[in-house]
Formats: sequence, C-alpha cells, structure tokens
Amino acid sequence: MNMRQEALARIKSVNLEPKLPHKKVSSYFGENTFNLETMQKHISKSTFEAFKRWMSEGKLITLEQANEIANAMKDWAISKGATYYTHWFQPMTGLTAEKHDSFISITGPGKVIEKFSGSKLIQGEPDASSFPSGGIRATFEARGYTAWDPSSPAFIIESKLGNTLCIPTIFISYNGEALDKKLPLLRSDEALSKAASGLLKLFGYKDVKKVFSTCGPEQEYFLIDKNYYNLRQDLLLTGRTLVGAPSPKGQQLEDQYFGTIKERVINFMFEVAEEAYKLGIPVMTRHNEVAPHQYEFAPIFEESNIAADHNQLLMELMKKIALRHNLVCLLHEKPFAGINGSGKHLNWSLADDKGNNLLNPGDTPEGNLQFLAVLAAVLRAVYIHSDLLRASVAMAGNEHRLGANEAPPAIISVFVGDQLNDILDTIEKGAKTKVSKKDIIDLGITRLPKFNKDTTDRNRTSPFAFTGNKFEFRAVGSSQNISTPIAVLNTIIAESLDYVAEKIKKETKGKDFHSAVLRVIAQIVKETKDVRFEGNNYAPEWLKEAKKRGLPNVASTCEALKALIKPSNVALFEKYKVFSKEEVVARYHIWVHTYNTILEIEANTLNEMVNASVVPAGYDYERLLADNLNDLSDLKKSAALKVDTAAFNDLKEHLAEVAAKIYYVRHNTKRMVKLLEKAEKLHHEERGKLYFEELKPLMEHIRKHVDQLECVVSDEHWDLPKYREMLFIK
Ligand code: ADP
Ligand code: MG
Repeated sequence: MNMRQEALARIKSVNLEPKLPHKKVSSYFGENTFNLETMQKHISKSTFEAFKRWMSEGKLITLEQANEIANAMKDWAISKGATYYTHWFQPMTGLTAEKHDSFISITGPGKVIEKFSGSKLIQGEPDASSFPSGGIRATFEARGYTAWDPSSPAFIIESKLGNTLCIPTIFISYNGEALDKKLPLLRSDEALSKAASGLLKLFGYKDVKKVFSTCGPEQEYFLIDKNYYNLRQDLLLTGRTLVGAPSPKGQQLEDQYFGTIKERVINFMFEVAEEAYKLGIPVMTRHNEVAPHQYEFAPIFEESNIAADHNQLLMELMKKIALRHNLVCLLHEKPFAGINGSGKHLNWSLADDKGNNLLNPGDTPEGNLQFLAVLAAVLRAVYIHSDLLRASVAMAGNEHRLGANEAPPAIISVFVGDQLNDILDTIEKGAKTKVSKKDIIDLGITRLPKFNKDTTDRNRTSPFAFTGNKFEFRAVGSSQNISTPIAVLNTIIAESLDYVAEKIKKETKGKDFHSAVLRVIAQIVKETKDVRFEGNNYAPEWLKEAKKRGLPNVASTCEALKALIKPSNVALFEKYKVFSKEEVVARYHIWVHTYNTILEIEANTLNEMVNASVVPAGYDYERLLADNLNDLSDLKKSAALKVDTAAFNDLKEHLAEVAAKIYYVRHNTKRMVKLLEKAEKLHHEERGKLYFEELKPLMEHIRKHVDQLECVVSDEHWDLPKYREMLFIK
C-alpha cells in the first residue's frame, strides 16, 4: 500500500459525544461577548449613558469611565474563565492578529492580582515591525498601536485549556496612519453617513442622525478529509491543488447543490453554528453548494463593521472546528481546477438609525423617489468607479475566478432585474418631456407601490446584482477580508450620493421637487446606461459587447490594483478621508508584493512536487513498463513466446509516451525555475506582470502534463491523493 492508499484506509468519522440536552439558541446567543446588555449590567448608569453617547454622537468618554469599563470587562472575562487578553486586529495580511497579555500584575514579592486599566483597554503596543506597512513605518521605528474599537463588542475565545478575552482594535502607526483593514472601513462609514444624511434631508427626513452600510457575506468553502490534506503539499502550503486530474464525476450531474448534507458535514456545521452563536454571530443558513464537497454559510446581515469582524471570526472558527472533525476547511477561491471556485457574495445596503433600508423600494411615491435617487447614485458609482471595485477584489486567489475560466467575469456591470429596468427606462424617456406631479403618476412611479422582492429575477452571473432591497457584490473572494471591498463601496457611494444631492439642489431652485428629482435620475440613468447588463455575464458575446461599451475587463491582479494609485482615485479617497495618499500607495505596493510572494510559493511548491512526487512515480511506472517489455522480448526469444506484433508495439509506444510526458514535465519545470531566477532581478511591479503573463501559463502547462501522467501511472505508484478521492469522501 502506498501513502495515499494508507490515508484512504485511515479515513473515518470522529466519534462525537452527543450534546444533550440541546439548548435553545436564544438562551446562549452572544453569551461570550461583552455586548451592550452585558456591559450595562456591569457598570454604573452614568458610565453606560456616556458610552452610548460616545457611540451615537462621538462624544468621548473620560479616562475614569474607560477604567470602569475595563475593570468590568476584566471581571466579566475572568468569571468566564479568561486568564489572558489580547488586542485583536486585522493587519494588511488579510488575516487577524493577536498579541496576548496576562491580566496579572505584581503587587509584592511573589504576589499578583488580576488587573486591567482603561488605558490598556484603549491602547496596546504590539511590536509592529513584522506586519506589512508598505513603507509607511520603517522597521527601525517599530511602533504601531492598537486602539480599541468600542463599536465591536469584546469577545471570549475558548480553547480546551483556557480562555482569552479578545478586544477588537484598529492598528495604526505612530503618526496615526492606518496599518490595518478596519480603520478605513470605519472612516468610509463616516463619509457615507454624512453624504447619505445630506441626501435624506432633501427628501424631508430631517432627524436622521446616522446612516451606515449593512452587510451579509455569504461564505463559500470546501471540506476535505484531513488525511488527504496532509499528503498534499500544495493544499498545505498554497491552499489550492497545483496538479490533479479531473475526477470522472465532477459537478456535471448537478446533484450536489442544496442536496442532503452528509452526516459528517452536518456535525461540523452544527458545531460551527453553536460556537458562532456564543460569539453573537447570527449564522442563518447553511447548504451544499454547486461543486462536490462545497458548502455555504450565510449570516443575517449586520452593520458592516460588525459583519466584517464576524466574518473574520467565522472563517477562523470554521478552520478550527473542521480539524476537530478530521476535516480541513478550504477557504481558497479555487482549491480545485475544473469545478466551481468559492466566492463571498457580499450583500450590501444602506440603513439609517431609524431602521429604514434606503434601498427598499418602499410603498409610497416619496419613498420610491428616494429609493430611485439612491439607486441612481449606486449605478453612477459603479459606472464611474468600476476600476476601484475591481481593485478591491484583486488578489492571487481570486484571479482564478475573475476573468479566468470561472464566474463571475472581471467586467463589473450591474443587474437590476426586469421590473426596475422598465422603470428606469420609463424615467429616462419620460424625463425628456416636462414632468408635473400628475405626470409622475402617469409615468408609473406609483404603480410600483409594492415592489415585490421576489420579482427581482435571479441572475447568478452578474457581479453586482440588485436583489430586492440590497445589492449583491459577487466578485469578492472567499478567503478575503471583506473590509476593503466594503470601504471602497462605501466611499464611491458617498461620492455619488453627494453628487446626486448637489444636482437635486440645483435642479429644484424654484421648481417642483419631484420633477427635479426625476430629471436628475433620468440624466444619471441615461449617462450610466452602459453599466447595466441583464444578460448572461458568462457568455462570450458579453465580452465583445462590454468592450464596445468601453467597460474595463482587467484579468490581471496587478493591473487591477493600479486603479488604487490613479491620481483621481487617490484624490477621491483623500476627499472622503478614507485613505491618505501615503496609505493607499502603501496598500498598492503591499498587495502587489503579496501577489508575487504567493506565486513564488506556488511555483516553488510545484517544483518540489514535480521532482519529489510526480517524476519518481513516473519513473517507477516507466520501469514497470520497461521490465515488462524486456521480459516479453526475452521470452519471445528464449521460449518462442508468440506475441502479437501489434500488442508488442503498443507496449513500446506506451513506454515511449510515458517517457515523453516525464520529459515534458521536467523540461517545463526547469524553464519555470529559470523564470523565477530571472524574476528575482525585477522590480515588484515588473515581476507581477511577468508572473501573470508567463509564470502562470507555464505552471498550467506543467500541470497539464502532470495530470496526463496521473491518468496513466499505476494507482499504486501515485502518492498524491486524487480529485476523485478528495472530492467524494464519505
Ligand atoms: P439570496 O442570496 O438567496 O437572495 P437572502 O435574501 O436570504 O438570499 O439574503 C442573502 C444575504 O443577504 C443574507 O446574509 C442576508 O442577511 C443578507 N441581507 C438581507 N438584507 C440585507 C440588507 N438590507 N443589507 C445587507 N445584507 C442583507
Ligand atoms: Mg446570494
């Protein structure tokens, strides 16, 4: 038995202790979070009121009040078994980071007490020199600070031998520049709030204090058995399979989507949900996805900042809990070639502090008009800034989906559905003539009083689709931290809402408000028409059509990232105070660098796999064939064995074929190593270009030959777990 076959023999479900009796979710939801309710129970009324004012009006609390909260948080955490605390943050690696400190404080020789102060709660100072800063913070000035983000509740992470209090924080440099993904998101929400409240005022909603974006990220993932995972260096080191012949049965039969969930998987899902609920993460649905062994979790939507934290936590929980079930959770965008990859559909909308969804079509003409104005702003934002949206999802993993042979395409267009499409067309035409209040009614605006959510047709191929009362940005990668796409979305929408508000103000002067709004909407609808596409985004005709319309189609990650440093985009970020020029330029360089590093790791892994696993297996099989051939030839002579010449030649041909395939694999792998050497001398921008244009196709080429070899080499000699095994475990 080879290693792979041994792994197969070892596969079994883990024995789980039944958890009985089951508790009602409502009885423990959020029990491991220091949420408002818990805080209120543990601190004085005046401090609690001050904290709430801080959250709603931005009026800072005093140091004494911070001390009181810190102390309460510590007591609560200790009562929950925590001995350590950590400032939890999201550096630009896209992961989360923690530096743990104990609560203990020395009070005398050999004596300690548990202590936690307001200043420690508010600020931490991890040694920041090892986190990417893109040159913002030279390594010799290692200072970076974490600052408490009170809008996201502190939480407790449990592990078998102890618990840790985690405090969500932002991560900044000595001079206050953002070194993380969260601060720009918080800033973008502020910009959005200002712009949206301004527009709402024009519609008579004068007492709106705050508008924020809401978000519900649908998380796709794969699960495979841990025994297989451990035998695949590519999965271990890069998160995706660099070689692997397709399984004869893939997703052709479409028998997986929404299918019955296997018991082993459902046990995993139950445990994830339970842990998520304790942390206040409202996981709502779970189901099988299109590809074999692909699944999805979707939460109930929340304020974007919280949703982003929760998504990071959920991904970590999924990875951790999978291991307990002898499974590995793959969050990579394209773990397996030839079957669907994974994305993170980002459901996004705008809400005000009164609980209204600004993208709810509503059931009054006024409501509809406000909705249509916001809708127009979104259309305009996506039309003008599609390059930024594309950049916000540009990463090595996602490059296998966007613009490659996977949905959705790299062309950013908007789908609104038949009903809205008709309305927009009518407005566009109607607005050419003079519109009076009566005409508005005639235009059919009031005829959509009950815009039914379910009437938005499904268009699964659109990268940016209106789905009833929210937009769904589907180009986001499954492993991505959603903060950046949200921050970009918020910023471009803020700019567009300001534009619409300004236009309306100008148009209204002395004239009827309704007709003025309609005229503005009509104008925008006309100008942004090219970004609307209702058809099949995967069809080849769309590529041609999009080109004719002048919509960008950028397949390369590094090329797409360039949008970040385009002067007009830098100015936009600066105007809305989301990124300073320095911050955004730093991000651009970090992300190009990350792309290169990922490709280098992949290429080096492929090199090693080819040399240490693939080629030796090929040689073993080659020897088997050669021995066979020799034996036959000897027997022909010595024992006058009658072998059909055709059969004899067939064996010879097969041997030659295998030898040739091994040669191709080795030959191209050597070329790949040369290419990597050449790349070393290049600046990282040039390097990224070379990797996209030459390294990736070369790796694909190597893979093609390896996969052909896999299909002929005897099963016994092939050590790497195969697609048909990894994707169809019981
Ligand atoms: P589908 O993708 O099939 O249309 P749902 O309508 O159930 O699915 O919604 C999918 C996701 O969209 C869920 O995570 C849900 O919480 C989220 N969502 C619903 N309304 C909003 C909203 N106003 N803002 C942001 N996300 C939302
Ligand atoms: Mg969806």
